[in-house]
Amino acid sequence: MEFIDLKSQYEALRPKIGARIQSVLDHGNYIMGPEVEELEAKLASYTGARHCITVASGTEALLIALMAIGIKPGDEVITTSFSFIATAEVIVLLGATPVFVDIEPDTCNIDASLIEQSISERTRAIIPVSLYGQPADMDEINAIADRYGIPVIEDGAQSFGAVYKGRKSCNLSTIGCTSFFPSKPLGCYGDGGAIFTNDAQLALAMRELRIHGQSKRYVHTRVGVGGRMDTIQCAIVLAKLERFDWEVQRRQELGSYYSGALSDYMEVMQVRPDRTSVFAQYTVAVEDRQSVQSMLREKGIPTAVHYPVPIPLQAAYAQSCLMEQWPVAIEMSQKVMSLPIGPYMDEGDVAFISDALLATRRRPLVPAFKTTLHA
Ligand SMILES: *Cc1c(COP(=O)(O)O)cnc(C)c1O
Repeated sequence: MEFIDLKSQYEALRPKIGARIQSVLDHGNYIMGPEVEELEAKLASYTGARHCITVASGTEALLIALMAIGIKPGDEVITTSFSFIATAEVIVLLGATPVFVDIEPDTCNIDASLIEQSISERTRAIIPVSLYGQPADMDEINAIADRYGIPVIEDGAQSFGAVYKGRKSCNLSTIGCTSFFPSKPLGCYGDGGAIFTNDAQLALAMRELRIHGQSKRYVHTRVGVGGRMDTIQCAIVLAKLERFDWEVQRRQELGSYYSGALSDYMEVMQVRPDRTSVFAQYTVAVEDRQSVQSMLREKGIPTAVHYPVPIPLQAAYAQSCLMEQWPVAIEMSQKVMSLPIGPYMDEGDVAFISDALLATRRRPLVPAFKTTLHA
């Protein structure tokens, strides 16, 4: 068993992916070819956002979004203390200061009730992350941002396809960013990402920023980046998009199956009733993570930890602030463990993994050698 099974998906889509790649090889427009625009149009209509701009990665999406809203040295950007590092990295790269907010224990998303107290005169944006595939409390976050006149950028790298109160992730705030890293719910076979907005001016800025800030060839009206997504990767996402709704549905069925099997016996991440998760990860919280992981490994079940250290406790991001600011993030970083999930698994696989995990709860957690010593 693999933690993320990309091979079965490829087998299911092999002819479509092959044909899509072949047609790029045939026309030869490897950069900004017709598949780029085709994908942008399809993704825009999928999310309901007016504009979609494909970019080189999810990280680049966040960076370009922050550049478009003019983040500069001295600015503060509020974000979650518990995410993949890229969420905070782009803030620091632009010379701004990330202000980290603690999370909710039962979703691991940013705790919206703690945001307002972190706002200062220098706050220029809020970046909530839709962690594990579930949007954060976007209405509450947007309402706070509106009061202070600041934009909200959703880091939807794990949540493309999720629905929040009838609206799609990545179309829930000023700007939405996603990633097509191979292991994300909608992945390509390399690096890729996309940015979404309903604001025409921001869309234009982000289109130009992704190609060295050029408004026309060799006319540079802004300082940008080399941030394009290449045509072959767009072609691959186009092929995968045809099965995506079915895949999301399978992820949700398997996620519910896990919760049904486990939630009476251990902490599992909760999905709020007004939204869905695409289960980029199925995550539980256990006290004795290391021993549970090794017991599962013995049965051939791989697990992963997203994430073992809250961002503000990473050496490069360590701040002079007190650790007590993020008690929940610190606790969850020590307890969270993600189980294999994916659209090509079946209920039998999930039952096998759940049973193995529940068995670790019943077995005494004493190392075998100690038991023999006492015998
Ligand atoms: C994967 C991920 C990113 C970065 O995406 P890349 O395409 O790998 O650059 C950013 N934020 C979160 C929450 C992610 O999971």
